Amino acid sequence: MFIVPATARSWVAVDPSSDFSLQNLPFGLLAPEGRHVTLATAIGDFAVDLTVLRDAGYLSIHKYRVLDAFEEFTKEDLQELRRELYELFVDTNSELRNDADTRSKAFVPLENARMLLPIRPPAFVDFYSGIHHASNVGMMFRPDQPPLLPNYRHLPVGYNGRASSVVVSGTPIHRPSGQTKPKPEEPPVFGPTKEFDFELEMGFYTSRPSAMGHPVPIEECEDHILGFVLVNDWSARDVQRWEYQPLGPFLAKSFATSTSPWVVLPDALEPFRITTYEQDPEPPAYLNSPKGMRYDLRLEVELKTAKAESYQRISASNAKYLYWGFEQQLAHQACNGTPLGYGDLYASGTISGPLEGSFGSLLELTWRGTKPITVTETGETRTFLEDGDSIRFSGYAQGDGFRVGFGNVEGTVGA
Ligand code: MN
Repeated sequence: MFIVPATARSWVAVDPSSDFSLQNLPFGLLAPEGRHVTLATAIGDFAVDLTVLRDAGYLSIHKYRVLDAFEEFTKEDLQELRRELYELFVDTNSELRNDADTRSKAFVPLENARMLLPIRPPAFVDFYSGIHHASNVGMMFRPDQPPLLPNYRHLPVGYNGRASSVVVSGTPIHRPSGQTKPKPEEPPVFGPTKEFDFELEMGFYTSRPSAMGHPVPIEECEDHILGFVLVNDWSARDVQRWEYQPLGPFLAKSFATSTSPWVVLPDALEPFRITTYEQDPEPPAYLNSPKGMRYDLRLEVELKTAKAESYQRISASNAKYLYWGFEQQLAHQACNGTPLGYGDLYASGTISGPLEGSFGSLLELTWRGTKPITVTETGETRTFLEDGDSIRFSGYAQGDGFRVGFGNVEGTVGA
């Protein structure tokens, strides 16, 4: 674990509102113009090509033959690499600052940086750990029963999803077709979804495998978490409503899941950890984790229609509204002895806050389509997404004069 002091500053100009402070130093996969794909970090307004830094002798990672995939690195490698990057960028070190030739090759303005999906996950899991989201959905669909199902506070509900459709921010998202049942008294119909939605989620990648038949104890789960991303778990609500019983979501979720391009290490989020969190009832021993992996991270959702020039904020939430911590999610997945992999992606579930305006899906923001959102710039209204609409998530922890953020996850809906 390496925590950059809150007072440390870089010789690279970093605006206080930038996601990429010296305290962050996330990792991503950069595809530079005319060059090999490479691991990169981000600082201020730049992606920084780590292959260029290594070749110029600035990093000790020459021991790694290739720098073109996360899979070459353990979590400990990345932690060590991040410490080296800190030492290179901190304002008391002028070595790289004075090397204009290397800087001009290594620094790529973020707006020109083509970022790839950090890790193509072998497996994708989606939890349901946002308690206000689960309550809202319960109120809408089971109004005559308690909002939370009886199992909710006893285990982190989740399902194994579809890994092949996980894509990086900026990838266009097609409108899926599926079966829906618009009228109870008539047979189902097949066609494009009419209730295209987003889900505001956090996600983590796993860092190391475990053997089948050997559950991972919760005390070890934190070490299996490589880093965090923002996730948009796109959803077709009308398809979901008809298909989900009795086995859970299937085609309503599996057509696309978008992630942010930068993987933020737990070390960078450690100062923003929430140290006390009451779970009632106390979880069973295999899920009991007094240290809890929960963070105070501000999350935002913005919408831009095809007619609009600019994004409009439609929701502001916080990762602290997750009832189940990230290490509890992983401990639950592993408790039956299923093997964990490297680079599996675990999404948290939709993170809604307790109040209107803090909900993490259109289903909740428009309360099942009964309270349309008005686009101020154009006067249009929205209940669910229409073709040409773009959704952008952002998320960051606010420090004293700096931020630790994820970069955006953005997607435009098409036919
Ligand atoms: Mn989801």
